[in-house]
Amino acid sequence: MGSLSEPVAAGGFQLSARSKERLAGVHMDLARIVRRALAFSPVDFTVLEGRRTDERQQLLYQSGATRTLNSRHLSGHAVDLGAWIGGAVRWDWPLYEKIAHAMQMAAAEQDVSIEWGGDWRSFRDGPHFQLPWKDYPVSRQAQDKETI
Ligand SMILES: [Zn+2]
Repeated sequence: MGSLSEPVAAGGFQLSARSKERLAGVHMDLARIVRRALAFSPVDFTVLEGRRTDERQQLLYQSGATRTLNSRHLSGHAVDLGAWIGGAVRWDWPLYEKIAHAMQMAAAEQDVSIEWGGDWRSFRDGPHFQLPWKDYPVSRQAQDKETI
């Protein structure tokens, strides 16, 4: 149920407080798309991760969960979304195609392009969405300066 201060999304879904916290440090264009996408998505979703520290990226790299040390998560240009069904995250692939479609609709509406990890050929990453390097070539250092 929505509070009086926030309009209820068409699908009835709203970002949880935890999801909002996890959008802290995420580029405003991407955060806006995530919030808007809930209005288009037939599947509720939660923000699993937004901006990431170097230490965590190293751990994920060593465990094989990521193939790069140059992740867009480090600069706040990527988010991971999880399908939220019945109070738990679900990993069924078709759910992520629906979320991706909602994200693309929101991005088109906001005139922003977005990349889905599910479209990658070598390492499909269904929960992952990022702003393209070519449109947002901001280095981590520059981003850090902006946010301090
Ligand atoms: Zn990711």
